[in-house]
Amino acid sequence: MTNEDRALQRCRIYPLQPAAPSRLESLMVKWRWARIARCSVCGRIRRFAIEHDNLRETVRCSGCGAISRQRQLAYVICARLSEVLGRRVTSLRQLAARDGDALAIYNTETAGPVHAALSTLRHYLCSEYVGPEFPSGAVVNGVPHQDLMRLSYPDDSIDLVLSSDVFEHIPQPYTAHQEVHRVLRPGGRHIFTVPFYQTEFADETRAVLGEDGTPRVIRTPLYHDDPIRPNRGILVYTIFALEMLLKLDRIGFTTHLYRLRHPFLGLLGPNALVFEAVKRTAGETGLRVP
Ligand SMILES: [Zn+2]
Repeated sequence: MTNEDRALQRCRIYPLQPAAPSRLESLMVKWRWARIARCSVCGRIRRFAIEHDNLRETVRCSGCGAISRQRQLAYVICARLSEVLGRRVTSLRQLAARDGDALAIYNTETAGPVHAALSTLRHYLCSEYVGPEFPSGAVVNGVPHQDLMRLSYPDDSIDLVLSSDVFEHIPQPYTAHQEVHRVLRPGGRHIFTVPFYQTEFADETRAVLGEDGTPRVIRTPLYHDDPIRPNRGILVYTIFALEMLLKLDRIGFTTHLYRLRHPFLGLLGPNALVFEAVKRTAGETGLRVP
């Protein structure tokens, strides 16, 4: 490769290149320590612990236990709802305390720091996926169950849907995105994180659902920790890529992709990606793709 080629490669912006860690981030990881101004989940000023090198899954708040991925989600929620509500929102706990009656929020988990911060909201919904034998809306051993591909909620009834590394475990994720679109009010939004290839266009399908309703793996099975079934793990069906943005547009979302970097808020690492899919209102147009 010539010097000119190397120079050109450094200018290339597509495929997107993951951002290299900054010097400050590298030092924080080396020292296993990150200072923070304020946690965007619990709102408290706390020290954060760096427990391992996967920065998306650590940088844990000593106040509420939120990790970087959860704080990334909270940061985008607070920033976007500041715009919607016309006042500054700095944490999920503050949002729940001041705007408890104003927003209908559906969270696709029933435990953890994000759930704890929002659960006092008057119009708060939450669920887990318990199993295919239960209808959406059932409560199983005290846990509300929803199948995201067949939600039990009415059309146009929710302002904000939250999911943090959930959609990669859904056999037909775009059916689930259509369901989220159905239950959101026009202008409502789905703020979420998923495993995402920044350098690829096409989604990677790792497993599909067989005709008998059981998973059929296409690539080496990949499991993530399952918070409600810690001894089992949960199968990954899809790792998403830029194609997802196009598919969401076709469903009727205008989608924004944020790559966050804010070491002093505990938002660390090269993969701090958060998506915001906004349900278009009547008359709004999407991408002009033939
Ligand atoms: Zn916290």
